[in-house]
Amino acid sequence: MRLIAANWKMNKTVAETEDYLTKFLKILGTPEDREVLICPPFTALYVAGRILKDTPIKIGAQNCHYEEKGAFTGEISIPMIKEVGCSYVIVGHSERRHIFGESDEVINRKLVACLERGVRPILCVGERIEDREAGMTFKVVETQIRLALSGIEGLTDLLDVAYEPVWAIGTGVPAKPEDAVTVHRFIKDLLKEINPKSEGRTRVLYGGSVNPENAPEFMKHKEVDGLLVGGASLDPEAFAKIVNSF
Ligand code: PEP
Repeated sequence: MRLIAANWKMNKTVAETEDYLTKFLKILGTPEDREVLICPPFTALYVAGRILKDTPIKIGAQNCHYEEKGAFTGEISIPMIKEVGCSYVIVGHSERRHIFGESDEVINRKLVACLERGVRPILCVGERIEDREAGMTFKVVETQIRLALSGIEGLTDLLDVAYEPVWAIGTGVPAKPEDAVTVHRFIKDLLKEINPKSEGRTRVLYGGSVNPENAPEFMKHKEVDGLLVGGASLDPEAFAKIVNSF
């Protein structure tokens, strides 16, 4: 099933989350032919989990730590996010990589921990503008994926990948759908090479300035298994339109 995911980033209080989800459920109904995922900030996960409990809409965290518990001030573990209802977690978002200096090694440890503890990670990859201008898009994406999957090559069916060119995130300038499709094809071929026994369950999502107007342009391509939406997911009407864009 195709997956449409909302990444709220550091937006929305508990009260705002309640308000959003009440509206969103009314507008959206309960779609059964597509998977809908909302990733609120940690503080709103509990209330989101309660509101969405008996609906098909899933919740996910935007980050996690790879250890189960201990002296890691300010961090949140996988058992903690699972307890409040998360079945997904975004790992290696470009803001984590480039603002908080998250390395490929840390991202790999997080993926390993997610798979061990039974939460489905969405691994984010994507090139910066200077990589693209230097013709390095494929090399950067390949390196990020190979390092992220180190030691868990046989488990690719248990995760999804989001291709998010860094220059397209939050800029209002999305990738051209044909360019994104080329990278999606590359990622799918690479995943097949990395895990020849895979059952092809890894979805490759596109992310980067998706809105209700351009979403159908991405979703009409069979290589695009879904979307990861930041800014436009903050408005329940806009996000519902994106969910219904195919
Ligand atoms: C994101 O945060 O993953 C994202 C794609 O953001 P935006 O849709 O705002 O570009």
